[in-house]
Amino acid sequence: MRAVEAVDVAVIGGGPAGAAVAAHLASRGWLVAVLERTPAWRWRACGVFSSPASVTALHRTGLSETTLARVTRPIPAMRVETVRGTRFRLTYGDHGLLTAPAVGFDRSALDPALLDQAADRGADVRRGVAVRAVRLPSRRGEPAELEVDDGQGGSRLRAAVVIGADGARSLVARAAGVRRRSPLADRIGLTFHVPDPVAGAHDARMVVLDGGYVGLAPVPGGRVNVGIVLDGRWRDRLRKEGGRATATAILARVAPELADSGPCDHLAGAMPLAHGVARRAGPGWLLVGDAAGFLDPFTGEGLHRALVSAELAAIAIDGLLHGHRRDLEGYSRAMRRRFRGKDVVSLLVQLFLSRPALFEHAAIRLATRPDVRETMGLVMGDLAPASHALDPRFLAALLRP
Ligand SMILES: Cc1cc2nc3c(=O)[nH]c(=O)nc-3n(C[C@H](O)[C@H](O)[C@H](O)COP(=O)(O)OP(=O)(O)OC[C@H]3O[C@@H](n4cnc5c(N)ncnc54)[C@H](O)[C@@H]3O)c2cc1C
Repeated sequence: MRAVEAVDVAVIGGGPAGAAVAAHLASRGWLVAVLERTPAWRWRACGVFSSPASVTALHRTGLSETTLARVTRPIPAMRVETVRGTRFRLTYGDHGLLTAPAVGFDRSALDPALLDQAADRGADVRRGVAVRAVRLPSRRGEPAELEVDDGQGGSRLRAAVVIGADGARSLVARAAGVRRRSPLADRIGLTFHVPDPVAGAHDARMVVLDGGYVGLAPVPGGRVNVGIVLDGRWRDRLRKEGGRATATAILARVAPELADSGPCDHLAGAMPLAHGVARRAGPGWLLVGDAAGFLDPFTGEGLHRALVSAELAAIAIDGLLHGHRRDLEGYSRAMRRRFRGKDVVSLLVQLFLSRPALFEHAAIRLATRPDVRETMGLVMGDLAPASHALDPRFLAALLRP
């Protein structure tokens, strides 16, 4: 073990949330170390589809137009399809003129670009460095201490603030004792890419199944990302046939034109998908991105939340380190204000999804009522306040026969 090194901020995890918060803090002049356990980017179960809100947040993080064009593929709309064949198109406010479209991300390009951006802003980005243990401060003003496996005998790092940007199984959330089960039942997520037979921009699809759904999003490199989410009703089949055979059969059913050429990469799985936290910050620590809780890819906009949480965290930490604020509670409040309404909408959508007749009822109305559909798209895409979808007048317009 070498001597203890000290930094202002240690960020555990170099995914989108960790890289973005590091870029924001390093550009404010703080000494930031990002510790990412994978030596190089590798495909894992994660999201690629996002409304224009994420692109705007990436602009604020400092990614250039050229980089953004390289890591995204425009998606005019999301076509939602129910088990009984009802279809509607969510345009996320894009009518071809006024706003940017939704996008599919190439995560193999986006994630490294964000880490490079953090390094360009002055953050010390260390890849292939895993944090093994975290000792969080028990009182305000004490530093946090990290045990780090850097492949050279290990080291220790002391930080005025430690940020858990380490995803769904966050070490920081566990050390703080704030991990909670989600109110949603356990589901499994399976993701992989297949070649896209169609060139240029085209709609994404969200196909609802009995006990799950499939998202198909075009991404750069002439590929379509396939994301399948399945609930407990699929457990026996998954056990018997395995994830790959089940995913291939589902794809052949919902998009036979994509099933023939086989996957471009390995099938990556995640389970459970949803999880929560009791608190997002405490003395000298806070959680960003998935580490701060995740509900569901159907409505989750996890990438957008990761980027916004990074911005709010950077403001709170900057204030704390400058001595303008006593604690990081402002971050928790800001996150609650920003996402509480959207969480309620997401839980309502999940309730509808778990009752096919109810989902069908809403889908038929969304298909035939353009104003209601437009509001839904804007709220789902984090482009309008969630309160619009919780307004009794909206709910009446959605549900009335
Ligand atoms: C199946 C599925 C589909 C999804 N679909 C969508 C979608 O369509 N749209 C959308 O917006 N979102 C979607 N999401 C969510 C989206 O992928 C996440 O919200 C987003 O990746 C969160 O980024 P993050 O930086 O918080 O976490 P991650 O991307 O998980 O990054 C965490 C990083 O921390 C590192 N790490 C973990 N532990 C340690 C440690 N001890 N030491 C060092 N490093 C560590 C990991 O290696 C990883 O790089 C989906 C998620 C799943 C699972």
